[in-house]
This record gives sequence, C-alpha cells and structure tokens, in this order.
Amino acid sequence: MRPRIASVLVAAALAVACGSSTTTPTSPTPGLGLGPAPSPVPAPMVDSFTYDADVSPSDRQLIESASVISRTFFERQVGRALAMGITFIIKSSGGLANAGNMRVNLSIVDPSGRRVGGAAMTKIVGHEMFHLVQQNSGWPSVSDWPLEGSAEFVGYAISASAGFTTYEDVKTCQLARYIDSPQISATPLEEVFPRQVDGRYGIAWLAWDHILNGEAGIPLLGRYLQGMSFEQSFGKDMPATLADFAEYRKTLRRPPGGACITRDGTSL
Ligand SMILES: [Zn+2]
Repeated sequence: MRPRIASVLVAAALAVACGSSTTTPTSPTPGLGLGPAPSPVPAPMVDSFTYDADVSPSDRQLIESASVISRTFFERQVGRALAMGITFIIKSSGGLANAGNMRVNLSIVDPSGRRVGGAAMTKIVGHEMFHLVQQNSGWPSVSDWPLEGSAEFVGYAISASAGFTTYEDVKTCQLARYIDSPQISATPLEEVFPRQVDGRYGIAWLAWDHILNGEAGIPLLGRYLQGMSFEQSFGKDMPATLADFAEYRKTLRRPPGGACITRDGTSL
C-alpha cells in the first residue's frame, strides 16, 4: 500500500525537533579534566504489538520475529536503520496491510480470507517496514512502481534470509504470475500501479530484480535512500531503465512448474 509520506516526514521532523529541545546537556564543563563526554543515550527502540484476541500465539511470534529480522536486514544489507519504535496493529480479518507514521497495520489473512503463511507474512512485514525506511529517508515520491517494487523485492529477500523461501523460488513465482497475466503483460511498467492492474507487485519485483541484478544489488538501494539520483544509484536514469526493462520483458518465458507454493504448503 502507498504510504503517507508527507505526514510521516512532518512527524519525523517534529520528533527530532522535540527530542533535541528537551535533551539535558550532559557534557562536562571543558577544562575540568573529567575525560571525554559520555555519549548521548539513544532513545530505546521499543516496538509495540496490538493483536485482535483471536490471533494465535504462533502468528504473534511469526510477526514479531519478522520485525526483528527486518530491522537487522535494513541495517546490514541496505545500510539504513529504523531509529524509532514502530506500532504494529494486527487484525484477524480484513486482509490489508499498510504503513505510515511509524505504524504498520497487518492482517493474518489475505484479501480472500486465507491465512497468510510464514513466507508471505515475513515478506509483508518486511515490505511494510521498508516503506517506513523510505519515508524516513530521501526516497523521492516520483512514481509508485519504484516505491512498491523495491519494498516487495526487499520483503521477499527478508523472507528468504529467514529461511522461509529462496530467491530462485520467488523469481520462478513472479515470472509465472507475470506470464500468466495477459493484462499486465500488455501494460507498460509505469502504468500498472495507476491502473491497479492485477499482478502489479509481481512485475515491479521483476523490474527491481533486473535493475539490481538479483539480491546482491540490494545495497545499491542505500544510495537512493541517501538522496543520490536514480542514475547515480543504479547506473541508468529512469527513462533508460524503463526502456531497458521493456526490452527485457520480451525475453521472459514461463518457467516450468511455476507454482507459488512454499514447502509448508502456503502461498508466497
Ligand atoms: Zn507497499
């Protein structure tokens, strides 16, 4: 889901401003020979989780574990830390997920009412938390496909890093979804989100897979998050990237099998 960037940036700015204005100076007076000033103690990053009563203990554990894994992934693979606590609200119905203002709304079922498995739930948690990383950085809000596709790519990489799936299985699944969707196959990448075409997250995943040349390119996202241009970050500007991807799409073929089912029998 597209996050509410403007409100988050304002909230983040307010948080920083309020934090600095209420901090008590702790540095010793110079010249007293007391040694170096103690480092300021950072505010604790306490995530809070509020569940509907019928969310099972195993689902709670899955979501809380995914949040920890995601934070670590952002720091180690993307070079960006989420410095504030997140409020997670988890529903047992509804099927929707979104993020904004250091808050993540999740559901343990998908829009059709089926329970979300470990691979998909970990991806969803990582996807929504990456939106918070984007909101707290210099990610430009020029278009939806880079915003959503990068969150989807990072989310699946987090799920793979947690052992729920593999990069190869995810790519096979995304290719199958793409090839099996005639509507999306005929739609330019930059139009799939404005038109709300089914399968738009899959083609956006494939675009970022092509741009980053697989999971090894994920650290390049850190450059873009620091405000570097698309060309500086990924080697080509946006028009060249779109033209290149349009050619790449012509080479895609349906993989054998291509089922999006993980080893625990749930959907990716
Ligand atoms: Zn999203």
